[in-house]
Amino acid sequence: MDAQPENQIVTAVLNAISEQRLPAGAKLGEQALSDLFQCNRANVRRALASLAAKHVVELRPNRGAFVIAPSGQEAREIFQARRAIERTIARQAVTRVSDDDITCLRRNIAAETEARTLRDKPTELRLSQQFHMYLARLSGNRILERFLAELTMRSTLILGMYSKEGHSCSNCDDHVGIVDALMARDAELLLRLTDEHLRHLEAELDFDLPPVSSVSLKDQLFGASGR
Ligand SMILES: [Zn+2]
Repeated sequence: MDAQPENQIVTAVLNAISEQRLPAGAKLGEQALSDLFQCNRANVRRALASLAAKHVVELRPNRGAFVIAPSGQEAREIFQARRAIERTIARQAVTRVSDDDITCLRRNIAAETEARTLRDKPTELRLSQQFHMYLARLSGNRILERFLAELTMRSTLILGMYSKEGHSCSNCDDHVGIVDALMARDAELLLRLTDEHLRHLEAELDFDLPPVSSVSLKDQLFGASGR
């Protein structure tokens, strides 16, 4: 683990967001973080500033730091941006993909399917994000990769906030089709499936749902078992 407390905080918050332990709107108290990470408040402030620069945390004057809670309109914009970026990524990835990449992607899907079978939602979410980030790396465009890292993080918050109850997502099935299209080096099919997949994710959202959370910051960051 990184020795710098601010980096530890950033990593813990990003992991907790990826696994939907830390929900949209959660308060990140300076004192609570400095106690949990046994560091001073200057470290905490640097960590919060870095998270704000990644657009996953919002700093409100005199009120503190909060995990962002995108509105319905922002959620739509984020998915629209993802469709644009992931189409470009797909177009690049299909020209660069190797057989080893296909093997890695299939392994990722198998792990996602296993997590879903075991009802291990945090792992499933993390692996699903990892699938998209693998393609972004494959595109060879570091700027797009960085944008997508931010957008997938915000999508996870949105899905946590607005997902329809009891809705089981078709993530893994969509991912299988995407890898098949990559393996066939079929750019046209890949673009269509990528677009459809993101529309499926967006279709899971219901903007009338209120966000709820009564879990402590410690449990949100480290899971109920503590660290
Ligand atoms: Zn996906």
